[in-house]
Amino acid sequence: MTMKIEIKKISRSEKPYLLASREAKRERTAVDVCGIKIGGGGEAVVIAGPCSVESYEQVLQTAVAVKKYGAVMFRGGAYKPRTSPYEFQGLGVEGLKILREVGDRIGLPIVTEVMSETDIETICEYADMLQVGARNMQNFALLRKLAKTKKPILLKRGASATVKEWLLAAEYILSGGNENVVLCERGIKTFDDSLRNTLDLAAVALVKELSHLPVIVDPSHATGRRSIIPILSKAALAAGADGVIVEVHPEPEKALSDGAQSLTFENFAEMMHGLTEPVRKIVGKETELAVCI
Ligand code: PEP
Ligand code: MN
Repeated sequence: MTMKIEIKKISRSEKPYLLASREAKRERTAVDVCGIKIGGGGEAVVIAGPCSVESYEQVLQTAVAVKKYGAVMFRGGAYKPRTSPYEFQGLGVEGLKILREVGDRIGLPIVTEVMSETDIETICEYADMLQVGARNMQNFALLRKLAKTKKPILLKRGASATVKEWLLAAEYILSGGNENVVLCERGIKTFDDSLRNTLDLAAVALVKELSHLPVIVDPSHATGRRSIIPILSKAALAAGADGVIVEVHPEPEKALSDGAQSLTFENFAEMMHGLTEPVRKIVGKETELAVCI
């Protein structure tokens, strides 16, 4: 016997994301990464570290420096999504081991990128938070699998993704069972090629209205330009971001990736100094920095 099903009406909601929306949850979500709270209306966080893990020494020196000046989490890529296959692709598992060892030694939780479904299990053994990079924001198979882990996920906005697509990508993770999603605005492609990307701070303010999820900003990849990262970090917090993530390298001119946008230790110290006082003045107590010394 064959059954005939007639679809009378397909309704298309204005807001197709459900769990990510503020309607679904009025209070702001705080994502906990080893005791560090991102979002929830609390203190803003600063996550810092090199673009790529290059060596134990490089990671150790950077972690000591960024912790000293107030970063509460450490970043570093072991699996790198490079535009060219001839560029440095990352140290893989060796890089993960370095991150874990240094993270434990210095006392900073680790966030690192996962590019492939097949690496999830291994990365989960070493990292405290998994980053989905801009290029993988709509890798739905990856998102579905990450939803099955308990790890917090840092979901970067795709370079050409609309806010709706970004929130729907988050929805894949939430609806699959993992509520620990932090969004990250990292610049989008526009007509203007003066900088690496265009930092969309309006999207940050908008997402804070539309969603309860925490949002942080990556001014390093958004601009590609070291000199303007500190001022844009301030602007990000003033626009309501729950934190920033920046790239720092002991010797940016020798970095194997993203040297031009990597801050020196001195640059980072200055940025942190500039962030605390003025931002408090601009946006009030709500965005005080969570400084970890
Ligand atoms: C990175 O964080 O090093 C990175 C590659 O970021 P994005 O995916 O935003 O380009
Ligand atoms: Mn980078």
